[in-house]
Amino acid sequence: MSQAEVFDPTVYLNGEWGPLSEARIPVLDRGFIFGDGVYEVVPLYAQPNGARLPFRLKQHLARLQRSLGKIRIDNPFDDAGWRALIHRVIEENAGEGDALVYIQVTRGVAKRRGHAFPASITPTVFVMLGKLVFPSAAERERGAVAVTAEDKRWLHCDIKSVSLLGNVLMAQHAAENDALETIQLRDGLLTEGSSSNVWVVKDGALLGAPRGPRILEGIRYGLIEELAREAGIRFEERDITEAELRSADEIMISSATKEVMPIRTLDGKSVGGGRLGRVYAALYDAYQRAKAREFADEAKRAQ
Ligand code: PMP
Repeated sequence: MSQAEVFDPTVYLNGEWGPLSEARIPVLDRGFIFGDGVYEVVPLYAQPNGARLPFRLKQHLARLQRSLGKIRIDNPFDDAGWRALIHRVIEENAGEGDALVYIQVTRGVAKRRGHAFPASITPTVFVMLGKLVFPSAAERERGAVAVTAEDKRWLHCDIKSVSLLGNVLMAQHAAENDALETIQLRDGLLTEGSSSNVWVVKDGALLGAPRGPRILEGIRYGLIEELAREAGIRFEERDITEAELRSADEIMISSATKEVMPIRTLDGKSVGGGRLGRVYAALYDAYQRAKAREFADEAKRAQ
Protein backbone atom coordinates (compact mmCIF):
# COMPACT_ATOMS: atom_id res chain seq x y z
CA MET A 1 0.00 0.00 0.00
CA SER A 2 1.38 3.40 -0.92
CA GLN A 3 1.63 6.09 1.74
CA ALA A 4 -1.25 8.02 0.08
CA GLU A 5 -3.60 5.04 0.55
CA VAL A 6 -3.03 4.66 4.30
CA PHE A 7 -6.34 5.29 6.05
CA ASP A 8 -5.62 7.77 8.82
CA PRO A 9 -8.98 8.80 10.25
CA THR A 10 -9.53 11.76 12.52
CA VAL A 11 -10.12 10.32 15.97
CA TYR A 12 -11.32 11.56 19.35
CA LEU A 13 -9.11 11.00 22.38
CA ASN A 14 -9.97 12.63 25.72
CA GLY A 15 -11.47 15.79 24.27
CA GLU A 16 -8.93 16.21 21.47
CA TRP A 17 -9.35 15.56 17.74
CA GLY A 18 -6.46 14.51 15.52
CA PRO A 19 -5.13 11.86 13.13
CA LEU A 20 -5.12 8.27 14.39
CA SER A 21 -1.41 7.99 13.58
CA GLU A 22 -0.70 10.72 16.13
CA ALA A 23 -3.06 9.63 18.94
CA ARG A 24 -1.10 8.64 22.06
CA ILE A 25 -1.94 7.28 25.50
CA PRO A 26 0.42 7.05 28.50
CA VAL A 27 1.74 3.54 29.22
CA LEU A 28 0.14 3.57 32.67
CA ASP A 29 -3.30 3.71 31.07
CA ARG A 30 -5.06 0.76 32.69
CA GLY A 31 -6.38 -0.30 29.29
CA PHE A 32 -2.79 -0.87 28.19
CA ILE A 33 -1.42 -2.31 31.41
CA PHE A 34 -4.41 -4.48 32.56
CA GLY A 35 -6.94 -4.58 29.70
CA ASP A 36 -9.11 -2.64 32.17
CA GLY A 37 -11.72 -1.20 29.84
CA VAL A 38 -14.67 -1.85 27.56
CA TYR A 39 -15.59 -1.10 23.97
CA GLU A 40 -18.37 -0.95 21.41
CA VAL A 41 -18.56 -1.37 17.64
CA VAL A 42 -21.50 0.34 15.93
CA PRO A 43 -22.16 -0.30 12.22
CA LEU A 44 -22.80 2.71 9.95
CA TYR A 45 -24.72 2.26 6.73
CA ALA A 46 -24.17 4.55 3.74
CA GLN A 47 -27.49 5.97 2.52
CA PRO A 48 -28.38 6.97 -1.05
CA ASN A 49 -28.00 10.65 -0.03
CA GLY A 50 -24.43 9.98 1.16
CA ALA A 51 -25.21 10.11 4.91
CA ARG A 52 -23.85 7.31 7.07
CA LEU A 53 -26.36 6.21 9.67
CA PRO A 54 -25.76 4.08 12.75
CA PHE A 55 -27.98 1.01 13.14
CA ARG A 56 -29.41 0.17 16.58
CA LEU A 57 -27.38 2.91 18.25
CA LYS A 58 -29.71 3.07 21.24
CA GLN A 59 -29.05 -0.61 21.99
CA HIS A 60 -25.28 -0.20 21.52
CA LEU A 61 -25.24 2.71 23.99
CA ALA A 62 -27.30 0.69 26.47
CA ARG A 63 -24.81 -2.19 26.22
CA LEU A 64 -21.90 0.22 26.71
CA GLN A 65 -23.61 1.44 29.88
CA ARG A 66 -24.07 -2.18 31.07
CA SER A 67 -20.42 -3.06 30.37
CA LEU A 68 -19.19 0.06 32.18
CA GLY A 69 -21.52 -0.64 35.11
CA LYS A 70 -20.24 -4.21 35.45
CA ILE A 71 -16.64 -3.03 35.81
CA ARG A 72 -17.63 0.04 37.86
CA ILE A 73 -16.50 2.83 35.56
CA ASP A 74 -18.77 5.88 35.61
CA ASN A 75 -20.11 6.51 32.14
CA PRO A 76 -18.25 9.63 30.94
CA PHE A 77 -21.23 10.73 28.76
CA ASP A 78 -24.99 10.44 28.72
CA ASP A 79 -26.71 9.13 25.55
CA ALA A 80 -27.01 12.64 24.07
CA GLY A 81 -23.28 13.18 24.67
CA TRP A 82 -22.37 9.89 22.96
CA ARG A 83 -24.68 10.63 20.03
CA ALA A 84 -23.08 14.04 19.55
CA LEU A 85 -19.60 12.51 19.68
CA ILE A 86 -20.51 9.78 17.18
CA HIS A 87 -22.04 12.30 14.78
CA ARG A 88 -18.95 14.44 15.02
CA VAL A 89 -16.65 11.49 14.26
CA ILE A 90 -18.78 10.73 11.18
CA GLU A 91 -18.59 14.39 10.09
CA GLU A 92 -14.84 14.58 10.65
CA ASN A 93 -14.31 11.57 8.38
CA ALA A 94 -16.46 12.38 5.37
CA GLY A 95 -16.25 9.60 2.83
CA GLU A 96 -18.12 6.96 0.96
CA GLY A 97 -19.30 3.51 1.84
CA ASP A 98 -20.36 1.67 4.97
CA ALA A 99 -18.25 2.17 8.06
CA LEU A 100 -18.12 1.49 11.78
CA VAL A 101 -17.61 3.53 14.91
CA TYR A 102 -15.25 2.03 17.46
CA ILE A 103 -15.62 3.33 21.03
CA GLN A 104 -13.27 2.44 23.89
CA VAL A 105 -13.43 3.55 27.50
CA THR A 106 -10.72 2.50 29.94
CA ARG A 107 -10.49 3.18 33.66
CA GLY A 108 -7.84 5.80 32.87
CA VAL A 109 -4.21 6.54 33.60
CA ALA A 110 -2.89 5.47 37.02
CA LYS A 111 -0.01 7.08 38.91
CA ARG A 112 1.60 3.70 39.52
CA ARG A 113 0.98 0.10 38.49
CA GLY A 114 -1.30 -1.63 41.03
CA HIS A 115 -4.14 -4.02 40.30
CA ALA A 116 -6.93 -2.53 42.46
CA PHE A 117 -8.77 0.59 41.26
CA PRO A 118 -6.93 3.83 42.12
CA ALA A 119 -8.89 6.13 44.45
CA SER A 120 -9.32 8.89 41.92
CA ILE A 121 -8.96 8.39 38.20
CA THR A 122 -10.52 9.82 35.02
CA PRO A 123 -11.61 7.43 32.27
CA THR A 124 -9.83 7.46 28.92
CA VAL A 125 -12.27 7.88 26.03
CA PHE A 126 -11.33 6.98 22.46
CA VAL A 127 -13.60 7.06 19.40
CA MET A 128 -12.60 6.30 15.82
CA LEU A 129 -14.23 5.59 12.49
CA GLY A 130 -13.26 2.41 10.66
CA LYS A 131 -13.95 1.13 7.17
CA LEU A 132 -16.46 -1.67 6.86
CA VAL A 133 -17.14 -3.99 3.96
CA PHE A 134 -20.00 -6.41 4.56
CA PRO A 135 -19.78 -9.91 3.05
CA SER A 136 -20.69 -9.85 -0.65
CA ALA A 137 -23.74 -11.58 -2.11
CA ALA A 138 -21.42 -14.25 -3.56
CA GLU A 139 -19.78 -14.86 -0.17
CA ARG A 140 -23.20 -15.21 1.46
CA GLU A 141 -24.34 -17.58 -1.27
CA ARG A 142 -21.22 -19.72 -0.75
CA GLY A 143 -21.42 -19.61 3.05
CA ALA A 144 -18.45 -19.43 5.41
CA VAL A 145 -16.02 -21.98 6.78
CA ALA A 146 -15.99 -22.46 10.58
CA VAL A 147 -13.96 -24.61 12.93
CA THR A 148 -14.63 -25.51 16.57
CA ALA A 149 -12.50 -25.18 19.70
CA GLU A 150 -12.85 -25.46 23.47
CA ASP A 151 -13.94 -22.14 25.04
CA LYS A 152 -11.19 -21.32 27.53
CA ARG A 153 -12.22 -17.75 28.34
CA TRP A 154 -13.23 -16.35 31.71
CA LEU A 155 -16.82 -16.33 32.96
CA HIS A 156 -17.58 -12.66 32.36
CA CYS A 157 -18.02 -12.97 28.61
CA ASP A 158 -21.15 -10.81 28.98
CA ILE A 159 -18.87 -7.77 29.49
CA LYS A 160 -17.66 -6.29 26.21
CA SER A 161 -14.18 -6.04 27.67
CA VAL A 162 -11.01 -5.04 25.83
CA SER A 163 -9.33 -8.01 27.61
CA LEU A 164 -9.72 -10.04 24.42
CA LEU A 165 -6.80 -12.48 24.53
CA GLY A 166 -9.09 -15.54 24.57
CA ASN A 167 -11.01 -14.19 21.57
CA VAL A 168 -7.78 -13.21 19.79
CA LEU A 169 -6.43 -16.78 20.10
CA MET A 170 -9.73 -18.15 18.76
CA ALA A 171 -9.67 -15.75 15.79
CA GLN A 172 -6.08 -16.80 15.09
CA HIS A 173 -7.15 -20.46 15.23
CA ALA A 174 -9.75 -19.67 12.54
CA ALA A 175 -7.19 -17.80 10.41
CA GLU A 176 -4.72 -20.68 10.60
CA ASN A 177 -7.45 -23.05 9.42
CA ASP A 178 -8.61 -20.83 6.54
CA ALA A 179 -11.89 -20.32 8.38
CA LEU A 180 -13.93 -17.18 8.95
CA GLU A 181 -14.79 -18.03 12.54
CA THR A 182 -14.05 -20.37 15.44
CA ILE A 183 -17.19 -21.66 17.14
CA GLN A 184 -16.53 -22.35 20.81
CA LEU A 185 -17.86 -25.09 23.10
CA ARG A 186 -17.69 -25.11 26.88
CA ASP A 187 -18.49 -28.31 28.82
CA GLY A 188 -19.98 -29.80 25.65
CA LEU A 189 -22.30 -26.84 25.05
CA LEU A 190 -22.19 -24.20 22.33
CA THR A 191 -21.17 -20.73 23.54
CA GLU A 192 -20.28 -18.31 20.72
CA GLY A 193 -17.76 -17.37 18.04
CA SER A 194 -14.54 -15.41 18.62
CA SER A 195 -16.43 -12.25 17.62
CA SER A 196 -19.97 -13.36 16.82
CA ASN A 197 -23.05 -15.06 18.23
CA VAL A 198 -23.89 -18.49 16.80
CA TRP A 199 -27.32 -19.77 15.75
CA VAL A 200 -28.40 -23.33 15.07
CA VAL A 201 -31.46 -24.46 13.13
CA LYS A 202 -32.97 -27.80 14.11
CA ASP A 203 -36.26 -29.08 12.69
CA GLY A 204 -37.32 -25.59 11.62
CA ALA A 205 -36.65 -23.99 15.04
CA LEU A 206 -33.95 -21.39 15.61
CA LEU A 207 -31.80 -22.09 18.68
CA GLY A 208 -29.60 -19.57 20.50
CA ALA A 209 -27.26 -20.24 23.44
CA PRO A 210 -28.62 -18.78 26.71
CA ARG A 211 -27.80 -15.17 27.51
CA GLY A 212 -25.61 -15.01 30.60
CA PRO A 213 -21.95 -14.88 31.63
CA ARG A 214 -20.77 -17.41 28.99
CA ILE A 215 -21.54 -15.23 25.96
CA LEU A 216 -21.63 -11.62 24.89
CA GLU A 217 -25.21 -10.70 24.15
CA GLY A 218 -24.80 -9.26 20.67
CA ILE A 219 -26.98 -6.34 19.65
CA ARG A 220 -28.09 -8.78 16.98
CA TYR A 221 -29.20 -11.29 19.64
CA GLY A 222 -32.41 -9.42 20.47
CA LEU A 223 -32.75 -8.31 16.86
CA ILE A 224 -32.66 -11.88 15.54
CA GLU A 225 -35.22 -12.88 18.15
CA GLU A 226 -37.50 -10.12 16.79
CA LEU A 227 -36.81 -11.07 13.17
CA ALA A 228 -37.60 -14.73 13.86
CA ARG A 229 -40.93 -13.70 15.38
CA GLU A 230 -41.66 -11.52 12.36
CA ALA A 231 -40.81 -14.39 9.97
CA GLY A 232 -42.89 -16.94 11.93
CA ILE A 233 -39.81 -18.98 12.97
CA ARG A 234 -39.95 -20.62 16.40
CA PHE A 235 -37.09 -19.39 18.61
CA GLU A 236 -35.61 -21.21 21.60
CA GLU A 237 -33.00 -19.71 23.92
CA ARG A 238 -31.48 -22.80 25.51
CA ASP A 239 -28.40 -24.98 25.96
CA ILE A 240 -27.25 -26.42 22.63
CA THR A 241 -25.18 -29.60 22.79
CA GLU A 242 -22.17 -30.36 20.64
CA ALA A 243 -24.19 -33.18 19.01
CA GLU A 244 -26.96 -30.71 18.10
CA LEU A 245 -24.40 -28.31 16.66
CA ARG A 246 -22.79 -31.05 14.56
CA SER A 247 -26.11 -32.35 13.26
CA ALA A 248 -27.66 -28.91 12.67
CA ASP A 249 -29.82 -28.28 9.61
CA GLU A 250 -28.30 -24.78 9.45
CA ILE A 251 -25.66 -22.83 11.37
CA MET A 252 -25.21 -19.08 11.14
CA ILE A 253 -23.29 -16.37 12.90
CA SER A 254 -24.27 -12.77 13.61
CA SER A 255 -22.33 -9.62 14.38
CA ALA A 256 -22.30 -5.91 13.57
CA THR A 257 -19.84 -6.50 10.73
CA LYS A 258 -21.34 -9.72 9.28
CA GLU A 259 -25.06 -9.05 9.90
CA VAL A 260 -26.18 -12.68 9.67
CA MET A 261 -23.92 -15.06 7.77
CA PRO A 262 -24.45 -18.74 6.96
CA ILE A 263 -21.83 -21.40 7.79
CA ARG A 264 -21.21 -23.86 4.98
CA THR A 265 -18.75 -26.22 6.64
CA LEU A 266 -17.96 -26.97 10.27
CA ASP A 267 -14.62 -28.70 10.92
CA GLY A 268 -14.54 -29.68 7.24
CA LYS A 269 -18.01 -31.29 7.20
CA SER A 270 -20.80 -29.72 5.20
CA VAL A 271 -23.68 -28.26 7.21
CA GLY A 272 -27.24 -29.28 6.31
CA GLY A 273 -26.33 -30.82 2.97
CA GLY A 274 -24.40 -27.73 1.85
CA ARG A 275 -27.46 -25.82 0.59
CA LEU A 276 -28.28 -22.27 1.62
CA GLY A 277 -30.70 -22.55 4.54
CA ARG A 278 -34.30 -21.37 4.39
CA VAL A 279 -34.21 -19.97 7.90
CA TYR A 280 -31.04 -18.05 7.08
CA ALA A 281 -32.62 -16.62 3.91
CA ALA A 282 -35.74 -15.53 5.84
CA LEU A 283 -33.67 -13.91 8.61
CA TYR A 284 -31.37 -12.15 6.15
CA ASP A 285 -34.35 -10.64 4.32
CA ALA A 286 -35.99 -9.62 7.60
CA TYR A 287 -32.67 -8.02 8.65
CA GLN A 288 -32.63 -5.87 5.50
CA ARG A 289 -36.23 -4.81 6.15
CA ALA A 290 -35.41 -3.90 9.77
CA LYS A 291 -32.61 -1.61 8.55
CA ALA A 292 -34.87 0.01 5.97
CA ARG A 293 -37.50 0.63 8.67
CA GLU A 294 -35.03 2.15 11.12
CA PHE A 295 -33.46 4.43 8.50
CA ALA A 296 -36.90 5.53 7.23
CA ASP A 297 -37.88 6.45 10.82
CA GLU A 298 -34.61 8.34 11.18
CA ALA A 299 -35.30 10.27 7.93
CA LYS A 300 -38.80 11.17 9.19
CA ARG A 301 -37.39 12.46 12.49
CA ALA A 302 -34.83 14.57 10.61
CA GLN A 303 -37.56 16.30 8.54
N1 PMP B 1 -19.85 -12.26 20.74
C1 PMP B 1 -18.62 -11.74 20.71
C2 PMP B 1 -17.53 -12.37 21.52
C3 PMP B 1 -18.37 -10.59 19.93
O1 PMP B 1 -17.13 -10.04 19.90
C4 PMP B 1 -19.41 -10.04 19.14
C5 PMP B 1 -19.14 -8.86 18.26
N2 PMP B 1 -19.11 -7.68 18.99
C6 PMP B 1 -20.68 -10.62 19.21
C7 PMP B 1 -20.87 -11.74 20.02
C8 PMP B 1 -21.84 -10.07 18.43
O2 PMP B 1 -22.23 -8.82 18.94
P1 PMP B 1 -22.92 -7.71 18.01
O3 PMP B 1 -24.14 -8.34 17.42
O4 PMP B 1 -23.24 -6.62 18.95
O5 PMP B 1 -21.90 -7.32 16.98
